[in-house]
Amino acid sequence: MLEPIVQFKDIHKSFGDVKVLTGIDLDIKPAEKVAVIGPSGSGKTTIIRMLMTLETPTSGDIIVDGVNLWKMEKKGKTVQANEKHLREVRDEIGMVFQHFNLFPHMSILKNCMSALIHVRKVDKEEAQKRSTEMLEKVGLGDKLEMFPSQLSGGQKQRVAMARALVMRPKVMLFDEVTSALDPELVGEVLEVIRDLANEGEMAMILVTHEMEFALDIADKVLFLDDGVIAEQGPPSQVLEHSTNERLQSFLHRFR
Ligand code: ADP
Repeated sequence: MLEPIVQFKDIHKSFGDVKVLTGIDLDIKPAEKVAVIGPSGSGKTTIIRMLMTLETPTSGDIIVDGVNLWKMEKKGKTVQANEKHLREVRDEIGMVFQHFNLFPHMSILKNCMSALIHVRKVDKEEAQKRSTEMLEKVGLGDKLEMFPSQLSGGQKQRVAMARALVMRPKVMLFDEVTSALDPELVGEVLEVIRDLANEGEMAMILVTHEMEFALDIADKVLFLDDGVIAEQGPPSQVLEHSTNERLQSFLHRFR
């Protein structure tokens, strides 16, 4: 049995009086592809943000590659993680957002090289080599010196992916990466994600409304509803054969 790369143990998350998550337990194996679906406001982005250490759980544990994100040992006691600990664990996780968050004043090559040089302390030559290879892989090898403003939304999203991938994360998070794109640009971005999924090495967690795509590439689909994982299983079971009424009515909107 492979150890999970990501574990959620009884995660609760409230914002003020609003209880968003009320007991999430989840194991994700290395290389597993997980699609997270659910109504707007069900906490999908909150799950992603907690994994990215951008949001603190109210209670519970999140463990990535054996390391508790939010707690650490200090003088034999378990205490709240400090910034240094968080920085270290963040390195294992890559994220692509709905809005691309590229540096507008840098070429796309420099966008990819930046964290390698400044965070990973990779030398410039190596950073350039790895970034060029990754941009070639996402089909942008002929645009290395262009700036984000000169690219289409789909191309920008592919740069954002290359920038995350070049760090060689163990887990990649995709938060509705196609929802800000014009419909005709969605396909090229999904194609890159599909290729990555087929390569098979990384665990991938995708928040998505692309049900056909989820059915196609995910090993497991989670339906988040009312603060909990209301349904989970292989995509065909969850998306085509579930008897959960709220899930059925949610899916109905995509048919
Ligand atoms: P989803 O991604 O499923 O649409 P979110 O995780 O974005 O859901 O949000 C879940 C709930 O938490 C929503 O009700 C949202 O308004 C609330 N929420 C999210 N972030 C914050 C925040 N920083 N402060 C207050 N409420 C928040």
